[in-house]
Amino acid sequence: MNMQAQRPPLLEVKRNFELKTTLVKASSRLPLPGSKLKRGPDQMEDALEPAKKRTRGLGAVTKIDTSRPRGPVLSTVSQTQGPAAAQKGPKKTGPRGCTTVASVLKNPKAAPVAPAAPAAPAQKPGTSAAPMVAGKRPGKRPAWDLKGQLCDLNEELKRYREKTQKLDQENQGLQEQLREVQEQATVLGTERNSLAGELASVRTQAEQSQQKLETLCARVLELEECLGTKERLFQELQKEKLELQEEQKALATRLEEQERRLQASETALSSSEAEVVSLRQKTAAQVTLLAEQGDRLHGLEMERRRLHNQLQELKGNIRVFCRVRPVLAGEPTPSPGFLLFPHGPAGPSDPPTHLSLSRSDDRRATLTGAPAPTTRHDFSFDRVFPPGSKQEEVFEEISMLVQSALDGYPVCIFAYGQTGSGKTFTMEGGPGGDPQLEGLIPRALRHLFSVAQEMGGQGWTYSFVASYVEIYNETVRDLLATGTRKGQGGECEIRRAGPGSEELTVTNARYVPVSCEKEVEALLHLARQNRAVARTAQNERSSRSHSVFQLQISGEHAARGLQCGAPLNLIDLAGSERLDPGLALGPGERDRLRETQAINSSLSTLGLVIMALSNKESHVPYRNSKLTYLLQNSLGGSAKMLMFVNISPLEENVSESLNSLRFASKVNQCVIGTAQANKK
Ligand code: ADP
Ligand code: MG
Repeated sequence: MNMQAQRPPLLEVKRNFELKTTLVKASSRLPLPGSKLKRGPDQMEDALEPAKKRTRGLGAVTKIDTSRPRGPVLSTVSQTQGPAAAQKGPKKTGPRGCTTVASVLKNPKAAPVAPAAPAAPAQKPGTSAAPMVAGKRPGKRPAWDLKGQLCDLNEELKRYREKTQKLDQENQGLQEQLREVQEQATVLGTERNSLAGELASVRTQAEQSQQKLETLCARVLELEECLGTKERLFQELQKEKLELQEEQKALATRLEEQERRLQASETALSSSEAEVVSLRQKTAAQVTLLAEQGDRLHGLEMERRRLHNQLQELKGNIRVFCRVRPVLAGEPTPSPGFLLFPHGPAGPSDPPTHLSLSRSDDRRATLTGAPAPTTRHDFSFDRVFPPGSKQEEVFEEISMLVQSALDGYPVCIFAYGQTGSGKTFTMEGGPGGDPQLEGLIPRALRHLFSVAQEMGGQGWTYSFVASYVEIYNETVRDLLATGTRKGQGGECEIRRAGPGSEELTVTNARYVPVSCEKEVEALLHLARQNRAVARTAQNERSSRSHSVFQLQISGEHAARGLQCGAPLNLIDLAGSERLDPGLALGPGERDRLRETQAINSSLSTLGLVIMALSNKESHVPYRNSKLTYLLQNSLGGSAKMLMFVNISPLEENVSESLNSLRFASKVNQCVIGTAQANKK
C-alpha cells in the first residue's frame, strides 16, 4: 500500500527532470527560486494525504513540482530557430554574453537572439535586422550611425546582463532544487531500501501465507472430500431410514395382524384351557385305569411266562429233534424203505415223531449166501423232520424255546451228527444267502429282537451281546477275531467273570453288542471267513470242531425293578463219526485219530453230563471237556436244552446214522429237573 502511494510522486519527479530542457517557455510564470520555502504549513499539509504523512519530504517535492511550471526557462530562444540555434542558446548566456555581442558585431548576418519573438518569421540570410528589445523593434539606424548602433548594442548588452543575472539566480535556485531533489532521492533510496526490506518480509509473509493457503486449500479439499463421503453416507442413511420406515410400517401392519390373531388365540386358549382342565381330569382317571390295567397286564405276562415255562417243562427240559437232510445232487438214491417216517397216533395230520431205519446185515448174507436180511431200527423223538422240511418249519418248533431265554431261562440248542449230515445247514443256513435257507441262528436272533421290542411296550428293556468261538482239539478260538488275530483265532481261555462269580467268560474273545439282524449277519459272515482261513491251514477243521454261538440276554423292567438275563447257546457240534482204528497207521492218520478221540471224548462228555444231570448225580463232569465246561451254566438246573440229531439219508452212512440216533435216544430219555428262571 505504501509502495503504491509513493510511486506516483517518484515517477513525477523523474518526468519533471526529463521535461526540464523542453519546457523553456513562459519563464515569467516561474516562481522565484526558493519560493517553495515561502509556502505556509497549511499548503504543505494539504499536499500530504493522511496515509502519506510519514513520507512528508517526498510529498513536499510533489507539491513543488505540481504547483509550478515544470522546469525553469533557461533560454528564450525561439523554437522556430531550429535545433542548432536552440543548442547554442545556453552557451550564449551567462558571463560570456560579451562574446556573443562581439560575434554578433563581427557577423551581422548572424541571427540575433530574439528573446520574445516566437511567431517572428525567419530572417533571410544576409539581411541585417535591428535587435529586438522587449518585443519592440527599434527603428533601423542608418549604417553610418555607428554611435547609435553602439548605444543600442550597449543597451542591449545591459539588458542581456540583467537577464544573465536573472538566469544565474534562477540557475542557483535550480541547483538548490537539484540538491533538494538529490536529498529527496537519497531519502527515497533509504526509504526504498526499507521498503525493499519490508517487501521482502511481506513476500516472506506472502509465501508463508501462500503456504498456509495451500495447506488450507489441501485441508479444504480434504474436508470437501470428507464432506462428500459424509454426504454420501448421509444419503445412504437417508435411504436406509426410508427403507426402515417402510419396514417399520410393514411390521406395524404385521403387528396389528398378530395382535388380532393373538386376541383370537387368547380367546381360543381360554376355551382350550377349560377343555384342558376337563381333559386333565379325564386323563387322571385314565392314568389310574391304565395303571390298573398295566398291573393286570403284568400279572397276565407273568402268568404267560409261567404257563409257557410249564408247557416247556411238559415238553421236557431236554428235547431231541431228528432232522434228515435230503439226498443231494450226485448222491446215490437210497433204496426205498431205507428210511421211513411213520405217522403218529393221530394220523398224517400229526407232526412226525418217529423214524425207522432198515439196515441189511451184509455179513450174515455172505455167510449164509441167502439175501441179506434187514434189521429195522425204530426211533422216536420229540419231533422228526423228514428231508423235505423247510428251515422255517424247523424254526417254528423252537421259537417258543428261544423265547424262554427272554424270560430268563438259559437255553442250549445243539446240532449233533456226522460230518455232512446238515448240522451247519440247520444252525447257520444254506449257501448263497437265500433268506429261505436261513438257519436257526439268524432266525432266533430276529425273533428275539422283535419280541424284545414288543416287550418294550410293557416297560422291558433288553440288550444283547454276542460271542462266537470254536473248540478244536480242546482249544478255544475266537471266530469273531479281527485284525492280526483274524483267521488265527488267537487262543482263548475259559475263566470265571470274577472271583466268586458263576458267570463264565472267554478271555481274548470279542463280545459284540448287537441290536439288529444286520449286525448278526455281519458276525456270521466274519465267523465264516475265519473258519475258511483256518480251513486252508488245517484240513476241514470246521467239521472237526465245535462252534459255540452265545448270546447274553439282559432284560430290565425299570418301573417294577425287575431284571432277568440268560444265555442263548447255539452249538454246531463237531462231526460225530468215528475213525476206523484199522486205518490209523500213518502219522497223518495218527493226528486224525487223536483229533477224533478228542471229539469223541468231548461228545461223550456231553452225553455223560446230560446223564449225570438227569440222574441228579452229585458230580457232573463239566470239567472233562472244554465244551461242557463252557456251557455248564446253560446245562441242567434251570436250563432248557434241545438237541438236533442230523442224519444223512444215504445208505452208506447207515452205521453213523445209527450211532447218532442211539446217542440222541439216550439224551432223549433224560429228564432234567424243573427249570428255574434266572430272575432277581
Ligand atoms: P455238516 O455241517 O453236518 O457237516 P452241512 O450242513 O455242511 O453238514 O451239510 C452238508 C451239505 O448238505 C451241504 O452242502 C448242505 O448244503 C447240504 N444240506 C444239509 N442239510 C440240507 C437240507 N436240509 N436241505 C438241503 N441241503 C442240505
Ligand atoms: Mg458243519
